[in-house]
Amino acid sequence: MNLLKQGLLLLGMLGGLVTEPLSSRAKLVTRTEFARGQLPRMTQWSQFQSADRTTDRAPLAVGPVWTPATQRWQQTTITYRLAPMSAYYRQIWRSAARHWSRVSLINLVETKAKSADITVQTKKQPAHVAPSIVGMTTSRHYSRTKLANLNVLATATATLYRDTTKALRYTRLQRIHVAEHEFGHTLGLQHAPFQQSVMYYVTRDRTITVADIRGIQRAYAN
Ligand SMILES: [Zn+2]
Repeated sequence: MNLLKQGLLLLGMLGGLVTEPLSSRAKLVTRTEFARGQLPRMTQWSQFQSADRTTDRAPLAVGPVWTPATQRWQQTTITYRLAPMSAYYRQIWRSAARHWSRVSLINLVETKAKSADITVQTKKQPAHVAPSIVGMTTSRHYSRTKLANLNVLATATATLYRDTTKALRYTRLQRIHVAEHEFGHTLGLQHAPFQQSVMYYVTRDRTITVADIRGIQRAYAN
């Protein structure tokens, strides 16, 4: 067998490995990501000054950058289900899903099916969660299957804490930004170590940026 054929065989095997239906017996790994709320700039300035200063010190990235991903879905059309919530929050999650679908190559499709890839919910913050946390995403990926060197997601749940966003006086648009951030995690994106990203760990005024779109493109390119 010549080298070209060996190469093709190897590619074929790799292809078979990743396109194989994911076994329900596959071991799942859980990970949780938090989004921290950005405190208001005008109110109670002295009390919140150190938190604001931390935010201001965040580096501005130079040159073409992309938001890192460690996970992705097998497919680019991904379903999400809204847990029971008010019409106000349903619109917030739907806006965030629309924003991602409009700008990146992934398509977030709402479904009522319990088998949805992603579940989004809006909750009162539990007592054990730090008061500055505005959102959280928990995801599970398969332990062995990888696509483009990324873990393949099995399920994800994104949460927005309505009492925290209210206490921090987030506007409707800023709550949409939190939902965009959490959706970013459910798509496999991690926190960006620079300011020009909706995936910066502190979220309030940032929306989806070119760095985030590049991050999705890299993760889902093949
Ligand atoms: Zn986060």
